[in-house]
Amino acid sequence: MISDKLQDILSKLPQQVKLVAVSKFHPIEAILEAYQAGQRIFAESRPQELAKKVGLLPSDIEWHFIGHLQTNKLKMVLPYVSLVQSVDSRHLLDAINDWGKTNNKIVPILLELHIGVEETKQGFVEEDILELLFNAERFKNVRFCGLMGMASNTDVEQDIRADFIRISSFFDYLCDLFPELSDFNQLSIGMSSDWPIAIDYGATMVRIGSAIFGERNNQ
Ligand SMILES: *Cc1c(COP(=O)(O)O)cnc(C)c1O
Repeated sequence: MISDKLQDILSKLPQQVKLVAVSKFHPIEAILEAYQAGQRIFAESRPQELAKKVGLLPSDIEWHFIGHLQTNKLKMVLPYVSLVQSVDSRHLLDAINDWGKTNNKIVPILLELHIGVEETKQGFVEEDILELLFNAERFKNVRFCGLMGMASNTDVEQDIRADFIRISSFFDYLCDLFPELSDFNQLSIGMSSDWPIAIDYGATMVRIGSAIFGERNNQ
């Protein structure tokens, strides 16, 4: 049962850590079941799917976007989400800032940090993030709220720990370096397989899908 899995995770999650339920590829009924069990933050990774679900589900759900976002899809996503966790390029950041300017909004975002060697992973390297944040005042319609990161896809716990240490120490370094960015305080690390480890390294949000909803049919 979805509600049992939710309760089990919540019982182990420190109180200050936000649970983001990753509902991508799962049907409306599954999301409603989690909603009825009290869950309010959900995340999607595809614009079309998000837009459709937003229209069918209760309006007090807080939606996050966690997938690769193409700039021609911004208007399907930005009006509906309270956080874009997956800002992975300068091009996308510029486009979000422009959208915010046009629509008179300040868009809360996380910068996605690319670590590890897997070529398919999107994101910024550390140097890019430093450069962006040194110029943060240029992005008047974006609110920099923190970092999102993923550990390497491996079962080797030591390697996962090493990845989280790297993300987490970089996050702490940024918080010290940019005290004027007062909203830069969210560290989104940890998924179904590794969230208990992410907690050890200061996660402020975990993004959990299959451990709540079961396996996805996304092939
Ligand atoms: C799908 C996804 C998750 C959730 O993955 P699970 O292993 O099902 O918990 C978390 N973060 C991102 C960015 C994702 O795309």
